[in-house]
Amino acid sequence: MLLDDQGVVLQVNPEFERHAGHAPGQLLGRRAVTLDADPLHGGFALALEHCRTTRQPWQGVLLCRRANGDLRHQTTMIQPLEECPDGALRLLVIQYDVTGMRERELHDRQLLARLGDTVSRLPGTVFRLRQDAAGHLELLYASEGLMALTGLTPEQVMDDIERLLGRVTTEDRRRLEVALAQSAVSLEPCQLELRLDLPGGLRWLEARARPQRRRDGSTLWDGLLIEVTERKAEESRIRRLVSTDMLTGALNRRAFFEQGAAVHARALRQGQALPLAMLDLDHFKALNDTHGHAAGDLALQVFAATCRECLRPYDLFARIGGEEFVVVLVDTSLAEAWAILERLRRAVEEITLEVEGGEILRFTVSLGLANLPPDGNLDVALGDADRALYRAKHEGRNRICGPDGMTPPFSDADPT
Ligand code: GH3
Ligand code: MG
Ligand code: MG
Repeated sequence: MLLDDQGVVLQVNPEFERHAGHAPGQLLGRRAVTLDADPLHGGFALALEHCRTTRQPWQGVLLCRRANGDLRHQTTMIQPLEECPDGALRLLVIQYDVTGMRERELHDRQLLARLGDTVSRLPGTVFRLRQDAAGHLELLYASEGLMALTGLTPEQVMDDIERLLGRVTTEDRRRLEVALAQSAVSLEPCQLELRLDLPGGLRWLEARARPQRRRDGSTLWDGLLIEVTERKAEESRIRRLVSTDMLTGALNRRAFFEQGAAVHARALRQGQALPLAMLDLDHFKALNDTHGHAAGDLALQVFAATCRECLRPYDLFARIGGEEFVVVLVDTSLAEAWAILERLRRAVEEITLEVEGGEILRFTVSLGLANLPPDGNLDVALGDADRALYRAKHEGRNRICGPDGMTPPFSDADPT
């Protein structure tokens, strides 16, 4: 549009007319500010005034009304022209419609705000982690959820990631470093559970992240971090349930062979032999027959508790049959094992249980001791222990028999 110095339309091109929704020629002779959504107080009048007084161009976005009443955002440029032959001021107005762009922009902003809102409500945190070519880690971004997870604000950790890494337990930090190194090489996603040592106690977190390599040799991981403390507690509760015998709380048969293999593998690495013993309650059938099955169960429970008291937490103690148990003594010589088991045997002898009718119930245990050499076989050693147990039964019960030819190492094992 070309306007005179009063803002009246002198010329207008067909494109502008179509754009403003007016029929050809309809705009001619009208004041241009009538295009403004608010002709009196809108920006158009001010912009024209600016150009008239300063003779400088103006550019901005005006909200204009088309002939059909639609409101449109128009990027508007107004250029004062002074080279007219009559010396009068003319104003050239160019507009293009940016309503669609504005709407998309607004939509994007709203989307971003909603996304930010959602992310801030996540029961965890999303993050971006960077490792430079020299291996230094830096947290580039973390959502607000980090605070609830770690007690640290995203800013604190972005400022110095050591504030967070320093709280990861030593063992888990090593696993984290290995997992990141592997993921950086393979560019495979990494997933890891780790423990944070927080003032309120240990907290389990699970991290999952996907890596990408940058041109400068650095690696970026985008990922999320959630708390899994309850899940880990539930998992370990289930593991305990699956591996323990319900009646006595001892390891069950399956768990014994699993953990026995692990203990044996460690002993093999250290070149140490493992003493192990089979335990079988004496005349237990008679005890059941005389006092009833419930009394038998109670005896089994008290027996197991007594055994645990005589053993160390890292020794294996398992129920592998009805009234048959196994003990594996870790970091112990055969002679020491004999002494420990002898104390155990006496402790069992001391147990008194009051059963129905006020009667006092006592029972004893026989033990067969064997040695599992570092390069030996667990089943073979159990067979040896079983044969020793058979001898203990045969020789009168309530006693320990060791490997062939072995006699009690302590004189106090001899009643005289
Ligand atoms: P020995 O001195 O030779 O070992 O004689 P014993 O009677 O202990 O041996 P036997 O193997 O003949 O009997 C084991 C008994 O243990 C039979 C069974 O009734 C009892 N028993 C096995 N499991 C349980 C249990 O869970 N509860 C109870 N109350 N008794 C059990
Ligand atoms: Mg028995
Ligand atoms: Mg038996």
